[in-house]
Amino acid sequence: MLEALKEQPADKILSLMAAYRADPRDDKIDLGVGVYKDPQGRTPVMRAVKAAEKRIWERQETKAYTGLAGDPAYCDAMVALVLGGAVARDRVAAVATPGGTGAVRQAVDLVKQAAPGATIWLSNPTWPNHPSIIRHLGMTSAEYRYFDSATGGVDVEGMLEDLRGAAEGDVVLLHGCCHNPTGANLTEAEWDRVIAVLQERGLIPLIDIAYQGFGDGLDADAAATRKVAGAMPESLIAASCSKNFGIYRERTGILMAIARDEGGATLAQGNLNHLNRQNYSFPPDHGARVVATILTDDELRADWQAELEEVRSTMLELRRQLAGELARLTNSDRYAFIAEHRGMFSRLGLPPEIVETLRKDHGVYMVGDSRINIAGLNTDTVPLLAKAIVAAGG
Ligand code: PMP
Repeated sequence: MLEALKEQPADKILSLMAAYRADPRDDKIDLGVGVYKDPQGRTPVMRAVKAAEKRIWERQETKAYTGLAGDPAYCDAMVALVLGGAVARDRVAAVATPGGTGAVRQAVDLVKQAAPGATIWLSNPTWPNHPSIIRHLGMTSAEYRYFDSATGGVDVEGMLEDLRGAAEGDVVLLHGCCHNPTGANLTEAEWDRVIAVLQERGLIPLIDIAYQGFGDGLDADAAATRKVAGAMPESLIAASCSKNFGIYRERTGILMAIARDEGGATLAQGNLNHLNRQNYSFPPDHGARVVATILTDDELRADWQAELEEVRSTMLELRRQLAGELARLTNSDRYAFIAEHRGMFSRLGLPPEIVETLRKDHGVYMVGDSRINIAGLNTDTVPLLAKAIVAAGG
């Protein structure tokens, strides 16, 4: 039987990580995988996470199963963190999931149960796991224009035009903030225009928010999600705690389904529980318990927010420095968008030959579409990267 399996394509980012590890050069720079790194290149456990884990270790008396939706305290705390009261709590069904990936997967599975014929619209480009999960579940996706490579910003007119072509009941996947892989995001006024098209066309938003707190701040980064959820009769929201709590390997995420009314939410909750049951039964608990412990304790929460704010401002400062260096070296503002982008990533818009030259001649590793992880830099390596980009012909 097993020999009948088809070979699966290698994950590009994981292959890039392996190539980086095998490179003997001391001055190599890893801008590949999407993990936050501090200026020393470490991905530390956040202080509040350590403190919460200690508290859990001291106080936890059982590891018996939780409910199918996970720990209710976690779901409540995350609904509040993401939605900030934008929607009445009794309209929100929520389940803990294994990471944001699990939330996206469960969201697509839920769409499949409710509307198997719906097309799920994805930004071009998007996180590669979006189309692959949709394909894996036998659903259909389509693309809307998003990134404008000429400006490094969003092609809003193209995006709206494409979304106007969606059929009623189709699902539109939107990145709540810090778009991956481009770093380019809609302005508040542009979000209003997107919402108007969603309403006009009767489309269902599916918001993937994996970087809340990495862009402009915890509330600012959730503002668009809250606005969409507040304006639409129904929305799906997949959130991840991997980045903003630094608990990547604990697999902590949540899927929220916002229904028209309480009855709709009860029905959705039953279906979300059922999907958890079919796919893995109870969701992982440790990371969720850490998050709930932090969010429900004033001191831990304040410390977490302070550390998250350091992470955010470090990345923002690196963006400004890199945009500044490139402006100086190219004597132009063509890389000014790097300072405008938000989150961990920026797509530089370099052709594959230059990406390859950067790797071969300069030991700079970035994803083939020229996405860089800003957190892979520090104040010493920014000038080196800028010089390498210009030397490679960028
Ligand atoms: N959505 C997007 C857009 C992401 O970039 C990521 C992380 N790479 C995720 C979801 C999910 O991350 P995780 O499963 O690690 O929580």
